[in-house]
Amino acid sequence: MELARLSWAQAKEALERAKVALLPVGSTEQHGPHLPLGTDHLTAAWIAREAARRGDFLLLPTIPVGVSPHHRQFWGTLWVEPEVLRDYVMGIARSLAYHGLRRLVFVNGHGGNTEALMEACRRLRDEGIYAYVYIWWRAVGEEIQKHFAGGGHAGPVETSVVWHISPELVQPERFAEAAAGAGERWGRPVHGVDIGYDTIDFSTSGCVGDPRKADPAKGEVVMEATVEKLLNFCRWLASAPEEELRTKPHIP
Ligand SMILES: [Zn+2]
Repeated sequence: MELARLSWAQAKEALERAKVALLPVGSTEQHGPHLPLGTDHLTAAWIAREAARRGDFLLLPTIPVGVSPHHRQFWGTLWVEPEVLRDYVMGIARSLAYHGLRRLVFVNGHGGNTEALMEACRRLRDEGIYAYVYIWWRAVGEEIQKHFAGGGHAGPVETSVVWHISPELVQPERFAEAAAGAGERWGRPVHGVDIGYDTIDFSTSGCVGDPRKADPAKGEVVMEATVEKLLNFCRWLASAPEEELRTKPHIP
């Protein structure tokens, strides 16, 4: 069920039936010279859509811009401040709660969003709205390790995933250029301190890792695994007793 495609007359029944809503949250930010700026929100939307379809949950419209100022030196990157994202998703959650649906999952496609989303969930719980952050790559970290030697921003994992879900948006002829300017790891450690605030501090192509190691077949395996995991979480959330979700009272 996709909320944006229903009329209000259809939405009442959908909101009652769904039990859980899925909100894809991503970014519009550089992903190397070979992947689209929309990589993170396209991926989050794909995962959320599949899980909503398979489990008959409610899919909400995607938030396409997140917390990405650390990519701003690369053309086309858009961003908002973390508190703007936090307040925005809280507003969406509260409007859903007004319609009676108080359980939702933020399907996150971008690491930079995580803190703001977690903070939103923590605050919402005190209002009796139960929201959780699903970080797709973290949820299937073990599966990813089975198939890839390393990951990284716009590296082999993300490239494989986009190659699977939107092959027309991947530019393999630019893989070599992406690899040539790639950082080996995220950040720039100096004597135990990370001095790399912006991606450009440790990568001139915007990538971390080598996209030449990408494989769309592996991308498919990882996407299937993460959709299944999300589906299981949504099923659990749909039937969890409210006492388990609620903010605990102060100890006596
Ligand atoms: Zn990404």
